Amino acid sequence: MKTILLVDDSRAVRLAGRRMVSSIGFSVLEAENGEEALKMVREHDVDVILLDWNMPIMDGLEFLKALRAAEDLEQPTVVMCTTENDMSRIMQAMQSGADEYIMKPFTEEIVRGKLEETGVIESPDA
Ligand SMILES: [Mg+2]
Repeated sequence: MKTILLVDDSRAVRLAGRRMVSSIGFSVLEAENGEEALKMVREHDVDVILLDWNMPIMDGLEFLKALRAAEDLEQPTVVMCTTENDMSRIMQAMQSGADEYIMKPFTEEIVRGKLEETGVIESPDA
């Protein structure tokens, strides 16, 4: 079973996300800011991260940069989650090492589709 780390400062978003990715078939870890998320990737084998942008203490972009700079860490796939339909922001995330992005609010189908596109899960018709 692959492990997904949900990083979001909203407990409601983490709860909804947990339901979706559990039903897709992931083992789920949670963090509420970038600092906690860095601790999680140091302590666990994480395959993929769904990463919120706006969070206190350490935001998603700061976390992403720190993660990608940590050469001692296994590098998980990172899907950036944003409410902003702002291409410059999305480009910034992709240039900082995000593999994909999704707009909030997302559905299980959207999450599944993105995880298939990144190759984290197999597409049913592959
Ligand atoms: Mg947030």
